Amino acid sequence: MRYICDDLIEHPNPFGMGLDEAIQKRFEAIKEVFTHHYNNNRIYQKYCNNHGITPDDIKSHEDLLYIPLLPSDFFKELSLSGKEEDIKKIASVPESAIVTYFTTSGTTGEPTKYPFDRDSIRRTSISNVQINRHIGEIGEGDYMIMLTPPPEETQTGLVRGMYMSTKPILNKDDQISFGVREGKIDTEYIVSELNSTNYRPRHLFGPPFAYKKIAEDLIEEGKELRLDKESKAFTSGGWKRVKGEVKREELDEIISKSLGIYKENIRDGLGLTDIFSWLLECSDHRKHVPPWTYVSIRNPNNLEEELEVGKEGLFAFLTPIITSYPSFVITGDIGVMTTGYEEECECGRIGPTVEHRRRAKGMAARGCALVLEEVIALMRK
Ligand SMILES: [Zn+2]
Repeated sequence: MRYICDDLIEHPNPFGMGLDEAIQKRFEAIKEVFTHHYNNNRIYQKYCNNHGITPDDIKSHEDLLYIPLLPSDFFKELSLSGKEEDIKKIASVPESAIVTYFTTSGTTGEPTKYPFDRDSIRRTSISNVQINRHIGEIGEGDYMIMLTPPPEETQTGLVRGMYMSTKPILNKDDQISFGVREGKIDTEYIVSELNSTNYRPRHLFGPPFAYKKIAEDLIEEGKELRLDKESKAFTSGGWKRVKGEVKREELDEIISKSLGIYKENIRDGLGLTDIFSWLLECSDHRKHVPPWTYVSIRNPNNLEEELEVGKEGLFAFLTPIITSYPSFVITGDIGVMTTGYEEECECGRIGPTVEHRRRAKGMAARGCALVLEEVIALMRK
């Protein structure tokens, strides 16, 4: 089935549409899919009723604030048993429509699973491709080396996600390769791949520690690479749990010195794990939210209060592109809005833009824990 969000994600210039158009279309798309989840998901409907909210109450973009949010930990909680029948409880589509369960790995225990139907997979992929094309500025003739194992050798969502959202942009199979071989970052191989390919510009994608390792290997051999003016180094901050975290300024320094990549072309991406999407930085190092996603920063003591640009609070995101489960999420992360909904970024693209700060602790985390208790109690009723 086609939804309003399908027109939005297929927009030829999604970050260049007018601010008013983006606001109106985002509202229409999210309201439509909120209605779908409300009508087709028994648990979510009960939860909304508990909050006294029905689709009729969402009348404008400002009202998106009142759409009841599910805590990230709820998906974790449902996955604890490892049984798919438990996860099916949160599906908004018939069991027969679910074709796969995407997983994210946590720090401990069972991976968190999310039910996907064909349309939700297709839209998630288009959304990430659009972000890589329009914010990452990856073109059809470019070359990309991922500082990861190939997607068939790993379950890591970010590896598969980046592969799936880059490969469709490129013309040929040999425009993408992988720098982790037999479990190790193979600097010699990476350098020889970068030097031998004829595709331009040449980009890299990987976790900070991979760049650090390459830089150390190059220094040891007294080498410095000079990639192309348009070359980009994509990094992902979603790897914090892996030891050897590198500070941003240090990382930018390492990458520009050892690989010869301009600092404005070092682009961090923020993985929104519960919706398998990512937000990518423009040349001004602001992470752009696409017009089909609504991100907002909430007051930890009152989740229905949205905080203004520059104020820290709990990260919430709502997307209409997933119709197989309610992808309206309040996370346990602290973030800040860096460009508002009514503004354009310095780069000329429309906002908003956001920044992730850290995991929530203490009082801020308590807000989420309370919502989690509420949803779990509803499920058991
Ligand atoms: Zn920008």
